[in-house]
Amino acid sequence: EVALYIVPTPIGNLADITHRALQVLEQVSLICCEDTRHSGKLFSHFGITTRTMSVHDHNERQRAGTIINKLQAGEAIALVSDAGTPLISDPGYHLVSQVRDAGFTVVPLPGPCAATTALCASGLPSDRFTFEGFLPAKAKGRTDVLQALVQEPRTMIFYESPRRVLDSLASVAEVMGAERKVVLAREITKSFETIKGLPVGELIEWLKEDDNRTRGEMVMMIAPFRADGETIPADALRTTELLCQELP
Ligand code: SAM
Repeated sequence: EVALYIVPTPIGNLADITHRALQVLEQVSLICCEDTRHSGKLFSHFGITTRTMSVHDHNERQRAGTIINKLQAGEAIALVSDAGTPLISDPGYHLVSQVRDAGFTVVPLPGPCAATTALCASGLPSDRFTFEGFLPAKAKGRTDVLQALVQEPRTMIFYESPRRVLDSLASVAEVMGAERKVVLAREITKSFETIKGLPVGELIEWLKEDDNRTRGEMVMMIAPFRADGETIPADALRTTELLCQELP
């Protein structure tokens, strides 16, 4: 069928590719890849010889026109990213939006995604959650984002890099308090998969004990705000004090 297929790929363990993903990747006439060389290795592992084209953050909008032309010509097309589900902290949003606006079908395949996979093993509430992508690199931007989430009643999921995780955790401790529980899921589906949950102050100490603990890809999950038993943020206390002064 003529459509743009959104195809998730493994986030570490190649056995996580689905039967349907392989079928679609074989049958389409073109696979749009975030990085053709990176995905080329995956495709050669599975014996997929379909033609590829690069579609990344910098050319996605221009490429959309080319892709829509191909759909018009009756070609089925797949989109993959380097790992996991396209569009989830990966390119694809502009393409999907333009393809839909042009009246073509977009078919999403289910498959690997670090955020939901990590959440399911975290022990944090999974009934409601928010996905926040990557925190800003600069301290000010990071604390602003976290400040806006201090009272968030849902589990918060972030993507993290090994270089920044300690800075991010320090910001979490500063803004939300050292007692806030954080779960770090590292190298999911790979040999050194580790899922560790502690109050953020203790988690920082635990990570500093061994450099290996901050290596690899990781998902950071912050426990929801709970009014009871939680240390009240400093500026909330100040506001309360001020309000009390006004009371009779
Ligand atoms: N689209 C991907 C997905 O569906 O999960 C995410 C792409 S994003 C550019 C890469 C980030 O995903 C990493 O920095 C890390 O936070 C997370 N990630 C990817 N693979 C992971 C893994 N095996 N274990 C833990 N986190 C992972």
